[in-house]
Amino acid sequence: MSFVITPPATVSVPVVGTKERFPVHRIYCVGRNYEEHAKEMGFTGREPPFFFLKPADAIVAVDAGSTGTIPYPSLTKNLHHEIELVVAIGTGGKNIKAADAHKHIYGYAVGLDMTRRDLQGEMKKQGRPWCIGKAYDHSAPIGPITPAAQAGDVNNAELYIQVNGTDRQRSNVSKLIWNIAETIEHLSTAWELQPGDLIYTGTPEGVAAVVSGDTMVGSVAGLGTLTVKVA
Ligand code: MN
Repeated sequence: MSFVITPPATVSVPVVGTKERFPVHRIYCVGRNYEEHAKEMGFTGREPPFFFLKPADAIVAVDAGSTGTIPYPSLTKNLHHEIELVVAIGTGGKNIKAADAHKHIYGYAVGLDMTRRDLQGEMKKQGRPWCIGKAYDHSAPIGPITPAAQAGDVNNAELYIQVNGTDRQRSNVSKLIWNIAETIEHLSTAWELQPGDLIYTGTPEGVAAVVSGDTMVGSVAGLGTLTVKVA
């Protein structure tokens, strides 16, 4: 087959313990999935999960032990970090039951749902899509994917992010409002999940701004650390 323009490259993420890489199909993100973060954003209570997407090529894949770099994005004056557990789907499906969700998971990674908060806020106020705040270029840094069998007890893993060595967010995956299995159940009623999909599961409280020159170190216990510098 030939193409009229050069086809885009396959976006991929390194995998712990192999030179083979995980190809990315879609990036789904869960909104307000930790109670204390929902509160800091002005909401309370357990609402049905809701989702937004980022384009696959928003990924900034960072190798283990390396420091990734993201440019300070255009149009914003309030760039926020959101540390998140990321689930990598290995086997697709629709209407997946929570009890079967583990069969669809290839592995897990540490991710950052970088957010142009001022633009997202303006879109919220106007009832418009969040894309410009959430789905911009380089908005999805991610560390290597750890295969599920090697990942330990991710449902009870501590996660944190430090900026320039100071704690910003620190919580535990056990505090997810909709846990990993429930998230997959809900998500797969709305979209047919495909191998290569990533799910950013949501962020705990403590989201805050970074500026040029800041270094973010994020981690989910058992999945290593993700280091990203803002250029
Ligand atoms: Mn998020």
